[in-house]
Amino acid sequence: MTDLEALRALMEADRWIERVAGQRRHLPESEELTRIEGELRTLAGDLRAAQDAQAPVRVAHANARDEGARLGARASDLAAKLSASGTPAGTLAALQKELEHVRELLSATEDRELELMMELEPLDEAVETVKAAAAPLVSRRAELVTLVSELQSSLDEELTALRRAREETARTVPAALLTRYDAALSRSGISGAAQLVSGRCDGCRIALAPLDIDRVKALAEGEFAPCPECGRLLLP
Ligand SMILES: [Zn+2]
Repeated sequence: MTDLEALRALMEADRWIERVAGQRRHLPESEELTRIEGELRTLAGDLRAAQDAQAPVRVAHANARDEGARLGARASDLAAKLSASGTPAGTLAALQKELEHVRELLSATEDRELELMMELEPLDEAVETVKAAAAPLVSRRAELVTLVSELQSSLDEELTALRRAREETARTVPAALLTRYDAALSRSGISGAAQLVSGRCDGCRIALAPLDIDRVKALAEGEFAPCPECGRLLLP
């Protein structure tokens, strides 16, 4: 294998690693997961607001219902006493008066209970609407968490294999050249060499000046010049 072939193989190995690493960083499933988590945070806020609006009305409605039950029991009790035989006339008049008063209170309480029930309906509905909107997102989130972790571990395995193969390839490049390659790699990222394609460095996309192109082409076999822009070793 010539130095040029070895260098090209190393460049391709590094570019492949970068492609897979990029795929791991930008999994569409991860992006969907981030979006869903954002939506769920918004819905959690909506749910708290809906529940805060619902809670006091719910308490007031329960209180009105209990009060109605208490007054209803009291009215039955008074009605029973009124119909019992042998009650003195004076007591009967007092009982009758109290019963009328209790029935007035009961009627007002029942009106209030009804009003509160009507007020509660849309508030309950608002809470249920938020819960219904969140439910499919919660199950999709669970699916995505599993999916992302599976995809990531499969890509990690692939990256481990690619890096191992890359080290094998690196061993075929002469030491001095490998040092220059690795220096360019750590400075520019992705790969330490780039291909000259139609007068452009395909690492940074810059168009080389005609003089630079001539210089690269005039180099003896096994000699490499860096791209004037990105510093990667230019492969003819
Ligand atoms: Zn370049």
